[in-house]
Amino acid sequence: MKKVVISALAKVNIFLNVLARRNDGYHDLESIMQSISLHDTVTLTVLSFGPSVLTLTDGGDLPTDKRNLALAAWLLFKEKFDIRENIAIHIKKRIPVSAGLAGGSSDAAAVLRGARELFGVATDADLFALAAQLGSDVPFCLFGGTALAKGRGEKLLPMPALPKFYFVLVNPGMALATKSVYQLFDKKSWPILSIDNIIEAMRHQDAAGILQFAANGLEAASLEFCPVLAEIKAELNLFGLLPLVCGSGPTVMGLTQDEGAALAAMKCLYFKWPFVELAWAKDYSD
Ligand code: ATP
Repeated sequence: MKKVVISALAKVNIFLNVLARRNDGYHDLESIMQSISLHDTVTLTVLSFGPSVLTLTDGGDLPTDKRNLALAAWLLFKEKFDIRENIAIHIKKRIPVSAGLAGGSSDAAAVLRGARELFGVATDADLFALAAQLGSDVPFCLFGGTALAKGRGEKLLPMPALPKFYFVLVNPGMALATKSVYQLFDKKSWPILSIDNIIEAMRHQDAAGILQFAANGLEAASLEFCPVLAEIKAELNLFGLLPLVCGSGPTVMGLTQDEGAALAAMKCLYFKWPFVELAWAKDYSD
């Protein structure tokens, strides 16, 4: 039986500036994206009979039909390359859902990569085009690493790897719909951030500069929805970590280069919040 097992890495934004709302309803953004070690595991198996199916472990009430981005990705791939076989997709979810960590996008990207491996078709450009059809974060999730993202997230420029940071991820155990956060964002005016400083700091591998200029323009809107995020931020801060809401939230990450501080924060917060995880930058090359 032909089978592949693929990791689907979570994504965080070290920097996120939300720009104008476009006519298609998306927002233009400029962002520094980073894939991290927290991942779902996606297994694709070619079936000898029956239709394509998706099953989940720890998927809560995620849909298993084509509303699930992973199955949508497979159906798009199958149609584009006229593949007759069907597959079974199994996803072991570890990335919290609707958490600002792009778990669904990463599952979809993993399916595209896995399907290419199984069927030996599709160039990088083919996969990229399919990914862009599936969602704003899917193109980044295809290749991961560290990248500057523009447009609605599909214009990607690889960036030098970050210096070593620990990412302490804390999720208060609630889902936050990205759409709602953007709707609130659109209703008010927020400070505009400049990306130049953090790019300069990254060029010089200046960890202190990166921590100084890391920012999330959506954070204030997420905090209005979920005031408890301010409590998590304050707790991470107590341990000397730089706290930043991930994407539209509600996961908060604490960034530090100090392993001891990361472990101390983990130890203290682990029993208080439903999801606490230590992660580090990771890409698909290792
Ligand atoms: P986004 O910003 O894309 O909403 P997120 O990290 O906040 O990303 P995800 O967990 O990626 O949240 O996705 C949230 C939405 O996508 C939910 O409505 C969920 O039902 C849907 N979804 C579809 N497929 C998946 C999947 N494989 N894993 C997680 N969510 C999925």
